[in-house]
Amino acid sequence: MRAPLVDGFGRVHTDLRLSLTDRCNLRCTYCMPAEGLDWLPRPELLTDDELVRVVGLLAELGVRTVRLTGGEPLLRPGVVGLVERLARLDLSLSLTTNGLSLARMAPALRDAGLRRVNVSMDTLRPERFVELTRRDRLHDVLTGLAAAKAAGLEPVKVNAVLMRGINDDEAGDLLQWALDEGYALRFIEQMPLDPQHGWDRSTMLDADEILGRLGERWSLTPVEVRGSAPAEEFLVDGGPATVGVVGSVSRPFCAACDRLRLTADGQVRNCLFAREESDLRGPLRSGASDDELAERLRVAVAGKKQGHGIGEPGFVQPDRPMSAIGG
Ligand code: SF4
Repeated sequence: MRAPLVDGFGRVHTDLRLSLTDRCNLRCTYCMPAEGLDWLPRPELLTDDELVRVVGLLAELGVRTVRLTGGEPLLRPGVVGLVERLARLDLSLSLTTNGLSLARMAPALRDAGLRRVNVSMDTLRPERFVELTRRDRLHDVLTGLAAAKAAGLEPVKVNAVLMRGINDDEAGDLLQWALDEGYALRFIEQMPLDPQHGWDRSTMLDADEILGRLGERWSLTPVEVRGSAPAEEFLVDGGPATVGVVGSVSRPFCAACDRLRLTADGQVRNCLFAREESDLRGPLRSGASDDELAERLRVAVAGKKQGHGIGEPGFVQPDRPMSAIGG
């Protein structure tokens, strides 16, 4: 085993967010313009062999959990085969997806070694889904969720972003639906990661407001144990069902952060909001040894800032959009 990846604040990095592609088949208004974005050139995307090598090295450096993200990760050609190879690295694999391909792929992903899945869905109303994503595909997301559950992926989590005057009137309906269906719901504060750099804190529903809305219909009891998990969890009416709130902006959890990110084009990001990246693709393709790559990863993590700094003087949103960073 190699020495773990520790930053200047003593945080040990054991969780990798791995973006498999920047492409997506939805056009969510807070993430992408209607015409999409200029996708990363395919030759610049890490190959399956390169991904397996890097993730294997990160496992030696103490990474224990890997979340596969995008864009939309299930758009990556041969993704089931890649999941199979990553699953052999004895890591806990999860996936964040828009759910459109789950109905078709869930059993194969489960057999390949995937265990958990998060599906992004911000509304239960078909017409509002079209407004928010510019695609009429809510039905596919709902059947995808059911297929994930039927395939034995557990837990099946739903990530929902609430925006003032857009879908915040659905907070209660979304939770009631998740309780009825047996999905674990997480409300996520909208973050300044849109390509238009139009994020406005006033449209974001913060954790206090979200909990206030839910508290009108349910009793919510904080779950003590949180660890480095982004979501604060609450027992709903005494449990066992829970609801989560990810208060990235209003209740930052950076002090316990154990996450690093690798973009689909091989750039290491030591924070979701990092302004600098460390190139791994170049050294990978010019014959760097595992020791050299490990040193590069170590330096990247060592330089991590204490927190994201949103709302602080001097905060500047990253240039790279969320769709090319991954959740
Ligand atoms: S904002 Fe950065 S430091 Fe904070 S929790 Fe997220 S990744 Fe970690």
